[in-house]
Amino acid sequence: MSTENAEEVHSFGFEDVTKDEKVDRVKGVFRSVASKYDIMNDLMSAGIHRLWKADTMARLNPQPGETLLDVAGGTGDLAKAFIDRAAKANRRRGGRDHGTRAIVCDINDAMLEAGKARADMAPYEEMISWVCGDAEKLPFESNQFDALTIAFGIRNVAGRMNALKDFARVLKPGGRLAILEFSHMTAPMLQDAYDTYSFNVIPPMGALVAGDRESYQYLVESIRRFPKQDVFKAELEEAGFSNVKITNFSGGIAALHTGWVL
Ligand code: SAM
Repeated sequence: MSTENAEEVHSFGFEDVTKDEKVDRVKGVFRSVASKYDIMNDLMSAGIHRLWKADTMARLNPQPGETLLDVAGGTGDLAKAFIDRAAKANRRRGGRDHGTRAIVCDINDAMLEAGKARADMAPYEEMISWVCGDAEKLPFESNQFDALTIAFGIRNVAGRMNALKDFARVLKPGGRLAILEFSHMTAPMLQDAYDTYSFNVIPPMGALVAGDRESYQYLVESIRRFPKQDVFKAELEEAGFSNVKITNFSGGIAALHTGWVL
């Protein structure tokens, strides 16, 4: 894939739009749902997104003293989990202050504010910072981070290849990447049930709980437009990541792509 320009066609759910329009409309989606974002995640997935995130962190294997950049980090789930796991490893080794840090970077202030306001974030004030920034042009120096995560975010980024290349830029040599994203079912007999649930249950649930049907219609459509596991793996390799691996969760409803900067 070449570096995107503003005239190229981008998908916003099932619609084809310009890059600027996609960026604006995605911002609108997350501004609209920010205050109900966490509760909707639990309701839509029956809490299973927590297991996917926990598994992602287990594979990332955070170490005491490391610094994580969580891109499109929203309300901070992965940043918090990263600190918790590193702190646990530190306790096992009998360490005291472990100095692990995480930065949550998101293009949308409303999502960051919702994250900062979470009651369970209070103990993390010294360890987590919140930065408004675009995944395509990360506001960080090169070779800064030990690990970079992005959960359910890359699908929303208009210039995906620009973002993947910028992820490789800000990671240190030896740094590791974990991308968790909705993906494509690997069990075809479950496809009908999954489609029925996605299109008939999630948008009405969004209307009821978040007062916003369209944003959740966008969610289910954008998942269908996101590349299949193998195609996305090839994009990561093109962006400069090595040893790229795919782990499917829940029959491919979500997939984790991991890779390294060597
Ligand atoms: N990572 C969080 C999680 O797993 O709960 C939030 C995921 S939420 C579905 C997607 C996030 O991507 C939103 O917070 C949105 O603002 C952010 N986002 C969309 N486009 C972005 C971009 N170009 N740069 C940074 N963040 C972006």
